[in-house]
Amino acid sequence: VRIYVADVNETLRIVADKCNVTLEELIQLNPEIEHPDVLLDGFPIKLPNEIVGNEDILDIPFCPLAVYEYADDWIPTISPEKMAETEYDVLIVGSGAGGAAALWRLSQQLGPDKRIGVIEAGETLLPTHPQNISASNEERLQQFSLNPDYMHRYEEALDNPMPTDFKQFFSLGGRALIWGTVCPRMDQVDLAQWPVSSDEMNKYYHIAEEVMQVNPFYTKGSTLQNVLLKRLQQTRFPNATDLPMAVDLRTSRYGIIFSNVFFNAIIFFALAMNTRPIDVAVNTRAVKVLFEGDQMSGVQVMSSDKRSYNIKAKTVILSASTFETPRILLNSGINRKPIGHYLTNQSSVFAIGRITRSNFPETLGNLALWIPRTKSRPYQIKIKGPGDYFWYQDEVMPLRESWEISFLSSGFVESRFVNKIELHPWKKDAYGVPELRVHFSYSKQDKRVIKQMEEAILHASAILSIPIAANRICIKEPGAENHDMGTCRMGNDPATSATNPFGQVHDISGLYIADSSVIPTSGAADPALTVIALAIRTADYIANQLKS
Ligand SMILES: Cc1cc2nc3c(=O)[nH]c(=O)nc-3n(C[C@H](O)[C@H](O)[C@H](O)COP(=O)(O)OP(=O)(O)OC[C@H]3O[C@@H](n4cnc5c(N)ncnc54)[C@H](O)[C@@H]3O)c2cc1C
Repeated sequence: VRIYVADVNETLRIVADKCNVTLEELIQLNPEIEHPDVLLDGFPIKLPNEIVGNEDILDIPFCPLAVYEYADDWIPTISPEKMAETEYDVLIVGSGAGGAAALWRLSQQLGPDKRIGVIEAGETLLPTHPQNISASNEERLQQFSLNPDYMHRYEEALDNPMPTDFKQFFSLGGRALIWGTVCPRMDQVDLAQWPVSSDEMNKYYHIAEEVMQVNPFYTKGSTLQNVLLKRLQQTRFPNATDLPMAVDLRTSRYGIIFSNVFFNAIIFFALAMNTRPIDVAVNTRAVKVLFEGDQMSGVQVMSSDKRSYNIKAKTVILSASTFETPRILLNSGINRKPIGHYLTNQSSVFAIGRITRSNFPETLGNLALWIPRTKSRPYQIKIKGPGDYFWYQDEVMPLRESWEISFLSSGFVESRFVNKIELHPWKKDAYGVPELRVHFSYSKQDKRVIKQMEEAILHASAILSIPIAANRICIKEPGAENHDMGTCRMGNDPATSATNPFGQVHDISGLYIADSSVIPTSGAADPALTVIALAIRTADYIANQLKS
């Protein structure tokens, strides 16, 4: 049955005539209407279903059929072939912590008339951090992120005195897709040695922290955190505190849904591409930077089917990380003495302790304690857990008698010329680029710091009453912590640094670096916040150059 609303001066008889229905049918369907000639102005009248005559009843048009342009992926990308048809104002190579941060800042600073492009060697693996995915957990995240399809391990030089585990994650978002979101600033002791002043660094740390939602509240309200923090503060570690993390703990508002708690580089992409158009090519590997005379002219890239394209740009930012950025420079014939040298990382002692319900009966919560580096303490310690309770998607975890707590320390490592990457003399990858070889060892001073970290972890475990079994404390292989840096470090002296303090390769206008390779010295704080702060600063410098 359909409803027809009677017009002025219409009766049941008139409606029957108008809608091509018999009067008897209408009388039967509308018994409440007493007479077929009563005026029914505005009255709803039931009509039988099979009546035609829509054109008389429906006086609003049908919505036009939508014409869709289909997308290949969850983020708009274009082919390198198409990018080769455009001249970019700025072309960014790599989309991890440094590249994505530079992209975000440039998208804020440059007008829509400027073209920005991004070249990424990896694929569009995930639209968010795996910790934001409900089907993920600690074990699955490890299994996924260490998969050799994405995580490439670098070969050690034969004469390497110690095993190393230097590696690189290839994907849109780079390592800033799967990272731990721990975000401390470098200590003033370290910044005092840098070519960028502490005031300037603090200004850019502040910008980075604001956009990444860095805060110390991830463990707020956890009894475990409060009790253990007090134990540390009242003894040897008075400056122990809550671990700063890039976690968005705000509730939903203004249409923004904060299911994206753990910050990741894709958020930088969203902030950029929701403001202005940008071109992104994935599965596209930069192999060389190109020049016309002594002017930057762009980047040579290879698609996954090994076709070569030249993408034009007068300003290029290399953000391919500690290993791949110097590799691109060396493969382009830019082989000044410091490039690839001064490879550093943070040394790491790792331990697993156990708390039990019987000696910790308080309500469980998660734990993220931070003992920062100081002038007299050349390392930091993070104490995290318990077990997979640190981040989890189930609302209720099974009540266990015993839980694992991890102690992770990161130590200052000297920047030494002998620690370096170099192009392999004969081995090349599928794109025809020489493979990398890594030379790395710890100095006597580095080893002293490692011993101090072991002693401090054991002391902290005693203070906290979280025993560590003898076989549960170990030194991580250099690189295993993923805090590699320094191979294109910034500085004022071209004899000992690859870039100037703004990230511009010395004496090559238009060629910049914004990633972990520019960090001048290792410090002891997790490096991503510093990578991002410096990348934002480099983007500001470039934007000012392009505006003037
Ligand atoms: C599991 C894990 C946990 C971590 N946790 C933390 C943490 O909690 N806190 C912290 O501060 N740091 C952490 N880190 C380290 C941090 O992620 C890195 O320091 C940071 O991401 C480095 O930024 P980047 O821009 O130099 O490199 P990346 O983020 O690795 O980005 C480099 C990008 O360049 C792309 N690329 C490489 N070569 C080419 C090429 N030839 N052409 C085009 N693209 C290319 C790569 O695919 C990648 O997307 C963690 C790392 C890992 C792996």
